[in-house]
Order: sequence, then C-alpha cells, then structure tokens
Amino acid sequence: MEDPKLLVESTLSDIEDRHLRERMLSVNTEYFEFTELPRIRWSQGRVKKKYHKVTFGTYDIRRKEIRIHPLLSDIFVPRYVLDFVIYHELLHFEDFHINGGSERRRRKGERVHSREFHKREKEFEFKKEANRVLQLIARGEFKSRPPARTLPDSDELFLFE
Ligand SMILES: [Zn+2]
Repeated sequence: MEDPKLLVESTLSDIEDRHLRERMLSVNTEYFEFTELPRIRWSQGRVKKKYHKVTFGTYDIRRKEIRIHPLLSDIFVPRYVLDFVIYHELLHFEDFHINGGSERRRRKGERVHSREFHKREKEFEFKKEANRVLQLIARGEFKSRPPARTLPDSDELFLFE
C-alpha cells in the first residue's frame, strides 16, 4: 500500500507543477513560440536571509529544467511576477539551446546576462512592476499587494489561475 500522506503530497506537487507548465505555455505563446520547451518545477526554496537574496528562478542547462522559488506560489503574488521569472528563464533556454549561447560566450568572453539579454528582458510587458514586487518579496515586505501605483490597470492581475 502506498502511504496516503505521500500520495497527497505527490498529487499536490503534481497540481503545482501543472500550474507552472500552464504559465510557461502562456508565456511561450505570447513571447516565443518555441516548439520544444524545458521542464519546469518548484525549487527547494532556499533563502539567503543574511543578504535578503532570493533566487527566484534558475535554468539548469544540463537537465533542461527551469526551477521556480516556491515563494512565488503564494496566491497573492500577481501572475505577471511569476510569468516574468519564467520569461527570464526562457530567455536563458533560448540563449543556450536555440542560439548556441555557451559556445558563442566562450569565444567572446560574453556574460550570462549580456547587453542583448537585458534588451530582450525589457520586452516583457510588466518588467518594472514585476521587479518591484520581487524586491519586496526578497525583503520579506510583500504583503497582499504591491503599492497601487505600480499596478497595470487590470483586475485580473491578482488572480492566480
Ligand atoms: Zn538569469
């Protein structure tokens, strides 16, 4: 017999992972249209408290996997914040697997977040707002909503579908 507690936990993480996949598909449709996508899941959720530093997303080249910090699974975190982190990691995916980034970088001594990368990052519609919320979360100052004036005008932004 399977341990019922384990079963519940694995079902829950399955639902959460499906949520991440849905967001990734949505970001892909809006910004990339890749025919192949990496895997995506929640990370272990480490926080370096001392420096208020949180790694919200990582891209694992070897495993072709995006990992997202579980702080972003909070229902009050606006959807565009999670989408932005996924967008950033998909830029790394694109850089490595579509544009051969690691090879090019070795030749030119280019950084992971190149000037070109930052330019692409700005194409995300709510980049500024998302960064502001991420800063609040990292400092532990994010309550239920970011300051009103930073909000794009849509009621849907607080829904976490
Ligand atoms: Zn990055």
